[in-house]
Amino acid sequence: NDNIITTDVVIVGAGPCGLFAVFELGLLDIKAHLVDILPKVGGQCAELYPEKPIYDIPGFPIVTGQGLVDNLVEQIRPFGPTFHLNQMIEALEPIGTADAPRFRVTTDAGTVFETKTVIVAAGGGSFQPKKPPIPGIEAYEGNSVFYAVRKMEAFRGRDILIVGGGDSALDWTLNLQPIARRVTLMHRRDDFRAAPHSVEQMRALVASGQMDMKLGQVTGLKGEGTALQAAICRDSDGQTFEIACNTLLPFFGLTMKLGPIADWGLNLNENLIPADTEKFETSTPGIFAIGDINTYPGKLKLILSGFHEAALAAQKVHRYVYPDKRLTFQYTTSSTSLQKKLGVA
Ligand code: FAD
Repeated sequence: NDNIITTDVVIVGAGPCGLFAVFELGLLDIKAHLVDILPKVGGQCAELYPEKPIYDIPGFPIVTGQGLVDNLVEQIRPFGPTFHLNQMIEALEPIGTADAPRFRVTTDAGTVFETKTVIVAAGGGSFQPKKPPIPGIEAYEGNSVFYAVRKMEAFRGRDILIVGGGDSALDWTLNLQPIARRVTLMHRRDDFRAAPHSVEQMRALVASGQMDMKLGQVTGLKGEGTALQAAICRDSDGQTFEIACNTLLPFFGLTMKLGPIADWGLNLNENLIPADTEKFETSTPGIFAIGDINTYPGKLKLILSGFHEAALAAQKVHRYVYPDKRLTFQYTTSSTSLQKKLGVA
């Protein structure tokens, strides 16, 4: 397969710890590819609390979740990491030996890597959409029901029912409205959590007859096989009505699930990956675990712990990537060789 990407390290998860690992690896001339199921980098900081202040990042008396992520992205820029977003790593199989480990890593979007090492920086697991409790919804998933929009073109000319009141529901309403045959937005009540500007734009489209907004909840689905024909809905007075549609996009927020990591043959302890504290290697040589996903005596689920873990893991990764090279300890302050890599010397 010509499309296989060969690399030194695949990092599972582009949260703060995965991002900082790129820096520590980069100083040691090790190239990394980062994969995250989210459409953006930053993990929990970017997804759960972008505007909240963090007070315990060393050297930053105060920085917001997104502010920290932006700085990390800036800091790793010299090392040119490749990001593969909107993709979940599904399979990880060993294809080497204990001395010279190699792994084949596959995402649900069909990207395949052959890598010398893997750093699992998967935090609380992969962010996955919460599914609404609609009986029989599984039958339509993948053909008529979608929890994320990966390619907008796939929705051209469709009759779309979008359910939810947050930013995802409103953003996709506005983005898909021009290409869909018709878009209907449904929310439980006439009060949206999304950015006020998006809500205004949506209301303007409704006022000019270019889309519909309905209050209520979807309670059932009608269709044939995997082809949806209508959603059965109920309003707050208990009245039932139907909305004709061939596509349903529920946006009910995200939850973190361990996901496929459980199938990679790693020892697990209550959904966490035990790692040693010398190099943060797992039970499988060549696979490392850093950040919130790992566990060891005294572990603190803090960003600063993950940064330390990334630095130590990088040292051992170097042994696998450059088995014949000796590593000498250097400071960024005084080493011209490190400064060249950073593009500042
Ligand atoms: P995460 O940030 O969880 O990122 C992991 C990423 O991996 C996710 O984006 C996920 O989608 C992705 N992923 C997982 N599995 C897969 C897969 N199979 N394929 C593709 N992608 C995958 N910490 C502090 O130190 N100080 C604070 O003040 C602080 N405040 C917090 C406030 C809140 C509200 C919350 C929720 C957390 C706070 N934390 C704080 C904790 C901090 O956010 C976490 O310790 C940190 O985000 C962990 O980073 P990480 O890189 O290990 O994982």
